[in-house]
Amino acid sequence: MKLNSTLVILMKRILLALAALVLTTSAYALDTATQAFRQFLDDFERQNLAYEWRDTGLRDVPWQYHRLSRQDRPLMFAHFGESEKDCTLLLGAVHGDELPTVLVLLRLTRHIQINPDFYRNQCIVVAPLVNPDGFFAKPPQRANAGGVDVNRNLPTKDWSVRAHRAWNAKGNGNKRYFPGKRAASEPETLFQMALIKRFKPKKILSLHSPLGIYDFDGASTSLDSFEKWLDAISKETQYPLKRLGYYPGSLGNYAGLERAIFTLTLELPTSAPEKGLEYFQKFLPAIQKFLNLKISDQKPYRIIQ
Ligand SMILES: [Zn+2]
Repeated sequence: MKLNSTLVILMKRILLALAALVLTTSAYALDTATQAFRQFLDDFERQNLAYEWRDTGLRDVPWQYHRLSRQDRPLMFAHFGESEKDCTLLLGAVHGDELPTVLVLLRLTRHIQINPDFYRNQCIVVAPLVNPDGFFAKPPQRANAGGVDVNRNLPTKDWSVRAHRAWNAKGNGNKRYFPGKRAASEPETLFQMALIKRFKPKKILSLHSPLGIYDFDGASTSLDSFEKWLDAISKETQYPLKRLGYYPGSLGNYAGLERAIFTLTLELPTSAPEKGLEYFQKFLPAIQKFLNLKISDQKPYRIIQ
């Protein structure tokens, strides 16, 4: 009898342990172990191979996602290091047709993952494919599936007054730059906002193409030293530094201007997918330096144009 009750207790403990294990696994499964996510990775891999992007490490990275695009594709990101530590956020393919930005960040994500020294004392968050519907469109397109430029849709203070006016003035109402009917109307916009809210990055690097420049938005107090640093990087990589200015709803405006986050845009020289690997190798040293750059907490903030 005594033996039996001991056995029952033991069995209960084993069952609880198993249940806990299953619960943990299923909590994780909500994100990336689902059939739908595997299907998405298959599609992604197929597209990568069509661009001859090999060894992306796509299936080895611990991706997470909590949101879907309009066409139900995961808005995925990888998070390394502890989120309480200084975070750097890297974004790719905010514009879906800027193809090499995706390979550069896929390669970078894998590179970071297998070199833990990168995130020993900091946190790094990479979202290599912010606008998957634009990336998978045939042909690939700048805007998302709702026809919105998600780098003009962030809810900046000037959005309601200026977004449509600026769109009409600058792009002559060009569909590629449509800011949306209202600010923050798109899942990809909410995705970027959620990453910024959750990880509170001190620095953001957003990859675009094909302007072939660095562009910087951020707080002015540390700007001198940061600009000196950028200037040095710019010379070192023989890559021009240029200030593009702010647009209503753009990341530079939302994160750089309004939230005093150091926001650097790296515009790759072309949007040609076959250049992806070359760009990764060319810009890796500069990106590594950006990751290791320490940003001081100095505030307040004033605008420098
Ligand atoms: Zn772009």
